[in-house]
Amino acid sequence: MACIFCRIERGELPSSRVFEDERFLAFMDIHPWRPGHVLVVPRRHAARVAELPEGEAEALFALGLRLAAAIRASELPCADLHFVLNDGKGANQSVPHVHLHLIPRQRRDFLKLAGAVISRPLVPLGRPAAREVLDAQAEQIRAALQAR
Ligand code: 5GP
Ligand code: ZN
Repeated sequence: MACIFCRIERGELPSSRVFEDERFLAFMDIHPWRPGHVLVVPRRHAARVAELPEGEAEALFALGLRLAAAIRASELPCADLHFVLNDGKGANQSVPHVHLHLIPRQRRDFLKLAGAVISRPLVPLGRPAAREVLDAQAEQIRAALQAR
């Protein structure tokens, strides 16, 4: 069976999309570590960064930079943010399709972030974020992207 992100790419599963072009998709993480958490994903399946076609890792990061700037410029609270890429199971990659996490941070939110990270193994049991909330956040980021 196709991986979750391939199914999102094909439109078989819902997602709150922030950006798409011929090579990449970006959408809101369904179990955000912090509000505004975006995943940037190559359309073509590759499990590991080293399996990406030449130049695609660089292009993925370049898009991540653009979207991070849009998140910062958006109405979403974002003092700073993390760029995270878990490469392989041993590095806590749970979806075997390359993705770059963009995780906004607010001032003094460390305990909330730590709580999300610690409860990570329990996430399958937890309730995902509400679709309306994710859609609204995606809209805010898209608006900031268009304004740039
Ligand atoms: P990883 O642990 O592999 O670096 O991150 C995978 C991310 O994908 C997790 O943050 C998880 O919440 C997110 N995720 C898993 N399934 C779905 C889904 O169906 N939709 C969305 N939008 N995100 C998902
Ligand atoms: Zn895939």
